[in-house]
Amino acid sequence: MSDDCIFCSIVDGEIPARTVYETDEVLAFLDANPLARGHTLVIPKTHAERVGDLDADAASALFDAVSDLTSRVQDAVDADAANVGINDGEAAGQEVPHVHAHVVPRFEGDGGAPIHAVAGKRPDLSDDELDGIAEEVAAAIDV
Ligand code: 5GP
Ligand code: ZN
Repeated sequence: MSDDCIFCSIVDGEIPARTVYETDEVLAFLDANPLARGHTLVIPKTHAERVGDLDADAASALFDAVSDLTSRVQDAVDADAANVGINDGEAAGQEVPHVHAHVVPRFEGDGGAPIHAVAGKRPDLSDDELDGIAEEVAAAIDV
């Protein structure tokens, strides 16, 4: 629990939310300012700011829940598809510093965009540059 975290306050019941799913590790509730009918947030109950801060158990519980809930949320509001995404860090648009996955139901002709629309101008990268980036990322992951 982080003292001044809105989502920890929701987990603790200090701030009301429209809860749609709950386990010992995970809570899912409707977004207060929905991008679409059924827009749902899925969070770990323990406070972690960034995806990389989650311990293995919390990460697995969170992504299991996202996997399980996405089609159910979609069906509940009779949507045709869904975007699933996490704003991981302020520069990526994260406003609430407690990890949360957005499940945004999508409807044919709703005028929205794919997740490719989230980034800025696309870089123009040569094959050599892409090779170099793949090497850097693989080395950083170091599996
Ligand atoms: P972010 O930009 O951090 O990925 O998204 C935060 C999301 O949390 C926003 O979509 C916003 O509408 C939602 N949100 C912020 N405060 C509350 C709240 O108190 N209750 C609920 N249910 N959603 C909230
Ligand atoms: Zn928190």
